[in-house]
Amino acid sequence: MVNPCRSLHLLLVSTPVGPLGSGLGGGVELTLHNIAQALTQRGHQITILAPTGSSLGNFDVIPVAGKLQPLAQNQERDAAITLPAQSVLGAMWHQAKLLAPQYDVLVNFAYDWLPFYLTPWFDRPIAHLVSMASLTDAMDDAIAQIITHYPHTVAVHSLAQAETFSFGDRCRCLGNGLDLSHYRFVAEPDTYLGWVGRIAPEKGIEDAIAAADQSHLSLKVWGAMPDPDYWQQVCRTYPNADVSYQGFLSTAELQAQLGQCRGLLVTPRWVEAFGNVVIEALACGVPVIAYRRGGPAEIVSHGQTGWVVEPDSVDALVEAIARLPELDRHRCRQAAEEHYSLAALGARVEDWLQTILES
Ligand code: UDP
Repeated sequence: MVNPCRSLHLLLVSTPVGPLGSGLGGGVELTLHNIAQALTQRGHQITILAPTGSSLGNFDVIPVAGKLQPLAQNQERDAAITLPAQSVLGAMWHQAKLLAPQYDVLVNFAYDWLPFYLTPWFDRPIAHLVSMASLTDAMDDAIAQIITHYPHTVAVHSLAQAETFSFGDRCRCLGNGLDLSHYRFVAEPDTYLGWVGRIAPEKGIEDAIAAADQSHLSLKVWGAMPDPDYWQQVCRTYPNADVSYQGFLSTAELQAQLGQCRGLLVTPRWVEAFGNVVIEALACGVPVIAYRRGGPAEIVSHGQTGWVVEPDSVDALVEAIARLPELDRHRCRQAAEEHYSLAALGARVEDWLQTILES
């Protein structure tokens, strides 16, 4: 039996799709930061391996050079595994193998085949935090192999995400959490609506623009823009919409601007694994209008902290926007405090790691 109070040495291995701080890694970047913070606060020793160019607040990151991994969300269901030459993913896991004897547990943040495939060759346990819903058969198969041979080692962020996998009932659901002291509550917002996330087809920004346009409100957009041509095309589709791109901001800058929104629109076309931006908005007191699809629908309490509406329905978004004044912004902040604190996240992650060590 492992002593629950023992300080653990943990090696966090980041996503290979982009350096931490670039935004290319989507919510994984903030999640890794928050988990590192939460576990540090609980007395654990954290080391982070991440692509060269990464920065993560006060944490030192061991930089690893190599070609970034292509994004999994752009692949077809029957896509084969890909690894570019001089892959940063390969280099990170080579380094992880060399460092592993110094650690109690390695935590994998990559939604990629390699760390799952390599798991049996490590003599330290690897905890896999799966950050997306089911996308390809090859990845489903790789994760299924591991959960069969190493039960307890796979975690997800929401029940909706887990349900997309045939083995979902065996995944540990961690939710997510934030350092709420970094998010300022705003009682009196401005008039504009907000949309936050990677500007990519699976995030469905088109519907948010259409709904804001029909509601005669301006929409401010924040997020990484991996493909500017896609954004230009979206803007051309709604030439009269009052939509403005505000850039990709640090968490501190983002929360200051996000808090001013009268509401956040979350309009994914895919099963969103969680939706960090939903809890970030709630932490600022911003109610959320979300499609009934994936993690956001689990987080938003319909009629309390937002409106959960019919997926892919711009009319439903417009109707919900008109009902934003019915919602109490204090209730939004309170929900973030009740369910999504850093302390609660730390306790859940620690419990998961303890279970892995005990098994
Ligand atoms: N984000 C940011 N700055 C911005 C816009 C977004 O740091 O200007 C971050 C945001 O805090 C969140 C992430 O981008 O952590 C988006 O994650 P989410 O889980 O919502 O979606 P994903 O991109 O993982 O699908």
